[in-house]
Amino acid sequence: MINTQEILRVENLHVSTNNKEIIKNLNISINRGEIHAIMGKNGSGKSTLAKVIAGHPSYEITKGKIFFESENITYQEPESRAHKGIFLAFQYPIEIAGVSNIDFLRLAYNCRQKKLNKQEVDPLSFFKLINKKLQTIDMNSSFLNRHVNEGFSGGEKKKNEVLQMSLLNSQLSILDEIDSGLDVDALKNIANNIKRFASDRNAILIITHYQKLIDYIKPNYVHIMDKGKIVISGNETIASDIDQHGYECLPTNQ
Ligand code: ADP
Ligand code: MG
Repeated sequence: MINTQEILRVENLHVSTNNKEIIKNLNISINRGEIHAIMGKNGSGKSTLAKVIAGHPSYEITKGKIFFESENITYQEPESRAHKGIFLAFQYPIEIAGVSNIDFLRLAYNCRQKKLNKQEVDPLSFFKLINKKLQTIDMNSSFLNRHVNEGFSGGEKKKNEVLQMSLLNSQLSILDEIDSGLDVDALKNIANNIKRFASDRNAILIITHYQKLIDYIKPNYVHIMDKGKIVISGNETIASDIDQHGYECLPTNQ
């Protein structure tokens, strides 16, 4: 039976790159209205999972399936996944020389509007819309005229990703280490923006190293990844166990 609440389902996923298997038998299901967090040591495959869900071409899916809103997207192009409503905020956001941030954001926004059969917006209306969003995220409007992420600090790049998330309003937003490089105030601000953005119509997958973001956001589920698979799933108390005792303290279900 089709579960209409389910936004993402990953089944028995195996992923390789350069003949190295990075993800091994990974399963996860995310419903509408839910926030999930994935934690895990460096190198456990978290960013690879995020990129594979978004359709990154460097990785080969050797086994398993990925469903988005009940559609098998395992071998679809990244553009088509983005159009359908999958957004990925990169751990290391890319800089795009020569392209102003506002032009980039408006292009992305209008592509999404078109896909949703909604009207595209002209530059002036977009300027008003984006300025409102900038205020909530506590970002200076001077960032609009700079080239995408060029010369942005680590924290500013992360804010720019959150701005894109909120603008594109995708059904599934995957945020890879959105909290890295942020000071406490910026972290709280970003956490508040993520919480405000979360609704019963979308789902959010947060990838993080730190408990702080989990404390602020209180995801519905926390998963621990190790050596390419999810070894434990539970609620947010897992995160505080790790914070106190490290990953080694956790019993695994493997
Ligand atoms: P995490 O985000 O959990 O720190 P990653 O997904 O970035 O982990 O990486 C998982 C493992 O896969 C690491 O050992 C990493 O070196 C390897 N890996 C990731 N991407 C590539 C790639 N393009 N080529 C070779 N190895 C890769
Ligand atoms: Mg990573």
